[in-house]
Amino acid sequence: MDVEKCSRCKKPFSFDTEKVDAGPVEGAPRILVYLPYCPHCGTRNMVDHDMTQEEFYAYYSLDASTDPGMKKCPDCAEWVRGDARVCRFCGYRFALTPPQRQTRKRAE
Ligand SMILES: [Zn+2]
Ligand SMILES: [Zn+2]
Repeated sequence: MDVEKCSRCKKPFSFDTEKVDAGPVEGAPRILVYLPYCPHCGTRNMVDHDMTQEEFYAYYSLDASTDPGMKKCPDCAEWVRGDARVCRFCGYRFALTPPQRQTRKRAE
C-alpha cells in the first residue's frame, strides 16, 4: 500500500501497488510510474515508482534483450541502458562510439 495526494483534488488516497496499473510514461519510456485512480474525483494520477528497470522487466515478464534501448555488458553480461558509458554492475567502460555506426548519408 502507498499513500498519495491526488494531483487534482489534493485529497490523500491509498492504493495497492500490487494491483494498480504501472507503466512507462508516454514519451519517456525509461520513467516508470504507478497509475492509480483517485477514489475521490476519479483522476488518474502518476506516482513515481521505485521499481528498477530490471524489476520492471521481471514484473512484466519482458526480456531486456528485446529492448533496443538496452545493451549487454561484455564483461559481466548484465543488461544496462543503451546510453550508459559505464556498466553499473561491474564498472566496465563502454567505447564512446557504438560499434554499428550508421554510414548512410542523410537526405538533406
Ligand atoms: Zn482526486
Ligand atoms: Zn558489467
